[in-house]
Amino acid sequence: MRASEVRQKFFDFFKSKEHAIVPSAPMVVKNDPTLMFTNAGMNQFKDIFLGNREPAATRVADAQKCLRVSGKHNDLEEVGHDTYHHTMFEMLGNWSFGDYFKKEAIDWAWEFLTEELKVDKNRLYATVFEGDAGDNVDRDEEAAQCWQQYLPKERILNGNKKDNFWEMGESGPCGPCSEIHIDLRNEEERMKKGGHELVNKDHPEVIEIWNLVFIQYNRKSSGELTALPQKHVDTGMGFERLCRVLQQKSSNYDTDIFLPLIHQIASLTDVKYGASNDGDVAMRVIADHIRTIAFSIADGQLPSNNKAGYVIRRILRRAVRYAYTFLNVRKPFLSGLLSVLIDVMGEAYPELKSQKELIQKVIHEEEESFLKTLATGIALLDKIIVETLKGEYKVVDGKVAFELYDTFGFPLDLTELILSEKGLVVNRREFEKEMEAQKSRARNASAVETGDWVVLRDDKEEEFVGYDYYETEVFITRYRQI
Ligand code: ATP
Ligand code: MG
Ligand code: MG
Ligand code: MG
Repeated sequence: MRASEVRQKFFDFFKSKEHAIVPSAPMVVKNDPTLMFTNAGMNQFKDIFLGNREPAATRVADAQKCLRVSGKHNDLEEVGHDTYHHTMFEMLGNWSFGDYFKKEAIDWAWEFLTEELKVDKNRLYATVFEGDAGDNVDRDEEAAQCWQQYLPKERILNGNKKDNFWEMGESGPCGPCSEIHIDLRNEEERMKKGGHELVNKDHPEVIEIWNLVFIQYNRKSSGELTALPQKHVDTGMGFERLCRVLQQKSSNYDTDIFLPLIHQIASLTDVKYGASNDGDVAMRVIADHIRTIAFSIADGQLPSNNKAGYVIRRILRRAVRYAYTFLNVRKPFLSGLLSVLIDVMGEAYPELKSQKELIQKVIHEEEESFLKTLATGIALLDKIIVETLKGEYKVVDGKVAFELYDTFGFPLDLTELILSEKGLVVNRREFEKEMEAQKSRARNASAVETGDWVVLRDDKEEEFVGYDYYETEVFITRYRQI
C-alpha cells in the first residue's frame, strides 16, 4: 500500500467515525514563545485543552507535520543511524474534545490497525500506565480492560511515568497514555526472546507506533492532581513507521516516502546506496534533512542566525557536511532533491509546490556559501584531530571550536559530530569562555561605535530556544540597523 493511500485510509476511517478532517498546522510555530516548532499533533489544539478556546468540532483527525530537533523532543542524533526516528515526520492523530474517551479511542485504534490495515495482531503490544503512588494515581485499569478484549494479558505491559504519563508542562492538563508497539522481528528471533522484553528498549525492530493519551487530570501549580470536568483524547501515530510496517520493510527509509529521495541522492552523487555504511548513513541523513529544510522554508522560516532560523541553518549545514565527507560532494546539490520531494509529498502538502522556486533558491545559496568555507574548516579540524590524537587527552581546545564557529560558520554540534567520529570531545567550558568574551567585545563595540545599532536580544524568549546553550547565545552578536 502506497504511503499516500495509507494517509487517505486514516482520514476515511476517522471520517466514518464522525471526525472532521482538519489541515496540518504549520511546522514552524510563530506565535507561541514556548515552542519553535510543532513537535506533536496536539500543539495546535493546546488552547482547547487549556479551556481557552471552544473547539469547532468535538472529534477531529489530521496528519500533522512535526519537527523534533529542539527542546523536550530532540531526535536529531538518532537520525540516519536508527531506522525510525526522523527530524521531520508526519503524525497521524485523532482527537476527542470532551467527547469519546478511552474505550472508543482503543477500539478504533485496534479496528484501524487490524481490520482496516490488516496488521498482524500477534505482533502487537499495548502499554498502560502502571500508576504512581506519589500522585495518588492507580494503574490505568480502564485502559487495560479495553485492551483485554483484544490482547492476551501478557501482551499488555505496564509503563512508567516517563513513557506512559503525558503532561503539557509543569502544570496544566495531563493524563495517562497507552501506547501500541509492534514486534517486526522474524519468527525465529521472536521464538528466542519475547517481544514483551523489548518494548521501549530501543530495539530497532520492536518499535512504538501509536500513542493514545487520555487527558483526565489537571495539575495545579502546587503539584496536586484534580480530575478535569471534561476528558479528552489526544492520539499520535508515526506515519512513516506505519508505512514501514505495511510495506514490510526493515527501515522507514526503505518505504516509498524516502526511497525515491535516496535514489536521487545516489544518482546525483554517483554513489551506490548500500556500498558502504558511512555512505548509507549520509544518504539517510540527507533524505531526512531535506524534508525539514524544504518544509521549514515553505512555512516561511528561512535559514538565519537566530532561533528557528539557526536550527534550520544547522540542519542544512549538517546535510552538506555529510554529503561532503561521505559522498564526496563539492558542488551544491541539495536543491536537486526538491522535485523528487514534491513528487512524494507535494499532493498532500501543496505549499511545497507553490513555494518551489523560493525553496530551491534559498537552499542553493545556503549550500554554495557553506561549501566555500567547509573545505578550509575541515582541513583545519583534520590537523587538530591528528595533533590531539597524539596527546594524552581526547579533548580538543574550546578555542579551536570557537574559531571554527566564528570564522568558518561551523555550529558547535557539527564540530562535535566530526570529532566524535574520532573519539574526541570539545572542551565546552573554554568554548563558552570564548563566546562570553566575544559577546562583551560586541557589546562594547556597539556601545562605542554605533548608537544606531540595536542588539537583537530578548531574554524572555531566549530561554525557550532550548536546543542547546550555543544556539541560545549566538544571536546575541547579531545587530540590526534601524
Ligand atoms: P519514541 O519512544 O519512539 O521516541 P515517542 O514516545 O517519543 O516515540 P510520542 O511523543 O509518543 O513519541 O509521539 C507519537 C508517535 O509519533 C510515536 O508513537 C511514534 O510513532 C511517532 N514518532 C515519535 N517521534 C518520532 C520521530 N522522531 N520520527 C518519526 N516518528 C516519530
Ligand atoms: Mg521519542
Ligand atoms: Mg516512546
Ligand atoms: Mg510515545
